[in-house]
Amino acid sequence: MIKITLPDGSVREYAEGTTPLAVAKSISEGLARNIISAKFNGVTVETATPLKEDGSLVLYSWNDKEGKTAFWHSTSHVVAQALEELYPGVKLTIGPAIDNGFYYDVDLAEGSISEKDFPEIEKKALEIARGKHDFKMRSATKAEALELYRSQGNQYKVELIENLEDGTITFCDHDTFTDLCRGGHIPNTGIIKAIKILSVAGAYWRGNEKNNQLTRVYGISFPKQKELTEYLELLEEAKKRDHRKLGKELELFTFSQKVGQGLPLWLPKGAALRERLENFLKKAQKKAGYEMVVTPHIGQKELYVTSGHYAKYGEDSFQPIKTPKEDEEFLLKPMNCPHHCEIYNTKPFSYRELPKRYAEFGTVYRYEQSGELHGLTRVRGFTQDDAHIFCTPDQLADEFKNVIDLTLYVLGSLGFGNFTAQVSVRDLEKPEKYIGSVENWEKAENAIINAAKEKGLDFVIESGEAAFYGPKLDFMVKDALGRNWQLGTIQVDYNLPERFDLTYKGSDNELHRPVMIHRAPFGSMERFIALLLEHTGGNFPLWLMPEQAIILPVSEKHEIYAQKVLNSLENNDIRALIDNRNETVGKKIREAEMNKIPFMLIVGENEEKEETISIRRHGGEDLGAISVNAFTDLVINEINSTLKSF
Ligand SMILES: [Zn+2]
Ligand SMILES: [Zn+2]
Repeated sequence: MIKITLPDGSVREYAEGTTPLAVAKSISEGLARNIISAKFNGVTVETATPLKEDGSLVLYSWNDKEGKTAFWHSTSHVVAQALEELYPGVKLTIGPAIDNGFYYDVDLAEGSISEKDFPEIEKKALEIARGKHDFKMRSATKAEALELYRSQGNQYKVELIENLEDGTITFCDHDTFTDLCRGGHIPNTGIIKAIKILSVAGAYWRGNEKNNQLTRVYGISFPKQKELTEYLELLEEAKKRDHRKLGKELELFTFSQKVGQGLPLWLPKGAALRERLENFLKKAQKKAGYEMVVTPHIGQKELYVTSGHYAKYGEDSFQPIKTPKEDEEFLLKPMNCPHHCEIYNTKPFSYRELPKRYAEFGTVYRYEQSGELHGLTRVRGFTQDDAHIFCTPDQLADEFKNVIDLTLYVLGSLGFGNFTAQVSVRDLEKPEKYIGSVENWEKAENAIINAAKEKGLDFVIESGEAAFYGPKLDFMVKDALGRNWQLGTIQVDYNLPERFDLTYKGSDNELHRPVMIHRAPFGSMERFIALLLEHTGGNFPLWLMPEQAIILPVSEKHEIYAQKVLNSLENNDIRALIDNRNETVGKKIREAEMNKIPFMLIVGENEEKEETISIRRHGGEDLGAISVNAFTDLVINEINSTLKSF
């Protein structure tokens, strides 16, 4: 008999050789029906893998990330079989699951795959799936494995196998198909009810442009047709909300080939939006005791050697800037932290003067491969809403709570109400991986976990996920399309205070090392505005909107009254403009809708006589005719209800 420990801590006994599926069945038939993948002692196994020793077992369904990974990876085998049948001579390479679906990289002997071929591939793959073929793992010797792929002339698999140890090589079989594979499949192909080939792209073998170019076939699959339909609708919506498209339509930002790839140029409306976001955060930060600092865009190479960033960003990033003076080198700053450490170092602090909280909207530069660049989310120059807190180990808990408060305020004011948090802590088995004393690590980890609990966060603890220099807390935000984004990292750091020899005088009159916290609720202004654009579809919270209202005179007769309305709104800090073009009101409304202006104020004969404005909301709701004062109150109330005070 073996002892199986389940995630709830319960221990059950089974005959040696029992399978995850049998364990599920022993708990309930319903559970067994839904189980598609499993992990035993931390290793992914098949649901039919015989368990031969005591251990902990986690069972996964489609609703788990691990379940989806097994589902999509298994589908990649099915699609590979379809490709083999449809494209004789095709050479298979690798086919992993990715965040949304899977891909398979293939070397087509001849011809190419284009969008018009997708339906045929989908049809073939579904036909295979309907055969309900079991996925069966099988061990092979290195010699056998090499023999198989040499006979097929598949140099890619041969290369993969050559790098594997004999005795560790396994194949996965289903139907007539065989693939070299480590495992991690669903029980059988029949569970796959819907398959969609999404795109094809070129990809170099092993990502190296000196190698052969392969065809990467991207796809996704689901256990229900309905889920595929919903996913495709979401993709359509995501296309409409693409921040690159909206940014252009709303005239927020642009890129210029002349200026350079990955270097966004902010247009007046976008710059104003950014400034409002910055002012919003500056105001809250001031209340939270932060002080603004300003540091230059470059720093001496030695600064980054000291900080360790040169080792991380030096070689593969922008190259040093030389000066007329020999041996003098500067780097574009990849991080603001080293500069802030030097600001801390300008004078000695006593423990009574801590914490020091230095904030800066600091622009940093990191070289990204041109293929990696994407709108505002992957750029080469961006501005972090950065701050560094220097405190004593005893102050860490309170500082952490304050930063969580600030982050929650920021996310809440911008409509990101749906989020979870992740606390990344040490791997206790590998203490050699981490710098700083065990005592400080314990203190910091407890401080973070207690702060997360006290603030009522929905959080998970991931051990082994901490950086070598300290534990951290990340917020994972779910956007309107159900996608997850990491925002608002709060990171403890024991490393930089050491490297920069930062000290403070304790109550014992001795010098001690402060703890450093890095935090950036937005992350970067560029990425955050991109997420906000896609989350809101350009309908930002009212307080942030470039234009909050547009006045639409019915004819030029009412322009003087329109101007009077505008003056009154401007006196109340409402951002508005007049569309006095010689166009119909209908056309003006359509354009204002396109520009996502929240309120359209129509002024004509009646309105002028009654001293009112007729209000139409973006989206079409008619609020009727009200006085300018009543409208002002409406706007102010709406802003106050979303923009909570901090
Ligand atoms: Zn596989
Ligand atoms: Zn930092």
